[in-house]
Amino acid sequence: MTFSNSKSRPVVISGPCSAESRDQVLNTARELKNTGVVSFYRAGLWKPRTRPNNFEGVGDEGMSWLSDVKREIGLPVMTEVADASHVEKALEYELDVVWIGARTTVSPFAVQAIADALKGTDVPVLVKNPMHADLNLWLGAIERFSSSTKGEVAALHRGFSNLGQTKYRNAPMWELPIALKSELPEIALFCDPSHISGKPELIPYVSQKAMDLGMKGLMIESHINPSVALSDAKQQVSPEQLKSIIQNLQIRDVIADESHNLELQSLRMKMDSIDEQLVELLKGRMDIAELVGEYKRDNDLAVLQLERWRDIVKTRMIWSEELGISREFIRTILEQVHKESIRIQTDILNKEK
Ligand code: PEP
Ligand code: MN
Repeated sequence: MTFSNSKSRPVVISGPCSAESRDQVLNTARELKNTGVVSFYRAGLWKPRTRPNNFEGVGDEGMSWLSDVKREIGLPVMTEVADASHVEKALEYELDVVWIGARTTVSPFAVQAIADALKGTDVPVLVKNPMHADLNLWLGAIERFSSSTKGEVAALHRGFSNLGQTKYRNAPMWELPIALKSELPEIALFCDPSHISGKPELIPYVSQKAMDLGMKGLMIESHINPSVALSDAKQQVSPEQLKSIIQNLQIRDVIADESHNLELQSLRMKMDSIDEQLVELLKGRMDIAELVGEYKRDNDLAVLQLERWRDIVKTRMIWSEELGISREFIRTILEQVHKESIRIQTDILNKEK
């Protein structure tokens, strides 16, 4: 079994965030199989929850349900493994693939222990990117698995932790999977639009973007009844929705030999990603301007505090100098930002409390 042998794109992996009961696992699998667009079934058994006391998965018990999906429904199955005992179970129940979660990829110790447990097997491994945007950790984990299992090792882009609020649950930072692909041109690269989006509405857009970048496949969470899911209820789609997302994708050929095109595409992607972050940062700054406006209103302070403005310009000019970016350019931008901030604060001051 390999991902890269599959000629058609996207290779679709779908299934619930977590296995919850035998019925939920089997019924979801049956409906996904009937869509005709799904090639692999996923379900988490041990859930790495950021905070304790959330649903932490059904554990070993779910293994036999996944075996039943394989036997009764005919979909190859996969789950997340986070330690050697999970690998042992996955081997015992002959799962077809295992994946490594984002919270595991950050830890070379954990990765090495799992890689050791897979040594000499031919189990394919999908390696999610680490929580934060560190390309080397991702590459390092892929290298550790490539020298342990004889099965295919593929990469799975699930986005990166955000500081503050953005429209995504996890920032896609498309330049990172692109950088990974240029380091490892042969690797099958998957995208996980569910964990990037955090909500169903964004999944089609993220999936399309992944296809436009030439990614091999998609992992999208699907639940027989998303609203009652025990984990990630907000982002799961029904099997019917999954089918329509996949059928509406436009799959264009990727011209791999026009290397300058790829290079240009990759540079533009970096620009897009930075612009997206710029817009989000500016929005964050304006949100704070609102709070400052409210404070000034409640404490009878004037909007324009000249001393503060002089300070802003002075420090930012020093930062510009240090980074070798034109002072005039930064000054012009700062003036616009300050103007907008003043406008927002003036509006607040003129409004009734
Ligand atoms: C998951 O796939 O359900 C999961 C926990 O993902 P991640 O490791 O990307 O957070
Ligand atoms: Mn999930």
